[in-house]
Amino acid sequence: MIAPAACTHVPTTLAGPRAEACEVCGETRNLRVCAECGHVGCCESLGAHNTQHFRESGHEVIRSVPVDRGFTWCYACGRYL
Ligand SMILES: [Zn+2]
Ligand SMILES: [Zn+2]
Ligand SMILES: [Zn+2]
Repeated sequence: MIAPAACTHVPTTLAGPRAEACEVCGETRNLRVCAECGHVGCCESLGAHNTQHFRESGHEVIRSVPVDRGFTWCYACGRYL
C-alpha cells in the first residue's frame, strides 16, 4: 500500500469567509471560501465563482461554508482533503 502524497497547498492559517454571499454574483447557497484569502464564491453547479477565483488568484484550496461542517478541496491535487 502506498499512501497518497500529502497535500502541501493548504495554508498554515486557514482564512474564514470574508463575505456572507458570493462576491461575484451574490449567491447565498452552496458557498465556498478560499482558505488562502477568505474570498467567497459559489459552487460549480451555480456560477462556479470559486473556480474562477482559483484561476485568477492561484489559490488552490477551498472549504465549504459553513467551514465547521464541510469539506476541503484542493484544485492542485484535484481531490478532497
Ligand atoms: Zn493540494
Ligand atoms: Zn457566484
Ligand atoms: Zn483566495
